[in-house]
Amino acid sequence: MRTPIIAGNWKLHMNPAQTAEFVKNVKDKLPDSNKVESVIAAPAVDLDALIKASEGSNLSVAAENCYFEDEGAFTGETSPKVLKEMGVKYCIIGHSERRDYFHETDEDINKKAKAIFRNGLLPIICCGESLETREAGKEEEFVVAQIKKALDGLTSEQVSSLVIAYEPIWAIGTGKTATSDQAEEMCKTIRESIAKLYNEETAENVRIQYGGSVKPANVKELMAKPNIDGGLVGGASLEVESFLSLVNYQD
Ligand code: PEP
Repeated sequence: MRTPIIAGNWKLHMNPAQTAEFVKNVKDKLPDSNKVESVIAAPAVDLDALIKASEGSNLSVAAENCYFEDEGAFTGETSPKVLKEMGVKYCIIGHSERRDYFHETDEDINKKAKAIFRNGLLPIICCGESLETREAGKEEEFVVAQIKKALDGLTSEQVSSLVIAYEPIWAIGTGKTATSDQAEEMCKTIRESIAKLYNEETAENVRIQYGGSVKPANVKELMAKPNIDGGLVGGASLEVESFLSLVNYQD
């Protein structure tokens, strides 16, 4: 049985004081972590505050990005080794904003996935097609190719433990959600591609989130789909009440 995982992605929002206040307001209202895993991915400058505030709670902490080297002359980058030392559990990689604005390639994402595992963290690997690719009817081959490249060289044990976030670019921050059927169809395709690349057991273990304008009003319908194991949520994760409704969607 896969434990559902709802992760907020704060992007470039919040400061340490706002982070501490947010966690103070949610920490006692989170679901049991074996029922639903609640995660917040925060900017690197807020992680220390997030970790301290969430101590002893059911909240898992994620970084929004890291570099693929542990240390060295890489000005401005974030070390996966230090993220682990700080108490971070997950690290998002391959978000479409990073692919688009910071020119991250599939090869970078694969190197980051390996660096994350090398340091004992778990990746949340984002994938997803543009509107143009979907309109050309090429979304499945595009997303499967992204997954194949991101996972290259990872073991089945590693793949079993990671999280994939399917986020169609046209649905991120646009208010335009993929229908639950469109989301389910792609998450199923991703799972089938992992069965082909690895085996059935690995495909059954990997958790696949949908992301793209997930909100309290649509989370239940999305989570009812058999291949959707969670949500990666931007805008709707920034408000306490909305985040709580998302993670407590089973109530
Ligand atoms: C995201 O940040 O990954 C995302 C899906 O954003 P939003 O929920 O705002 O569409």
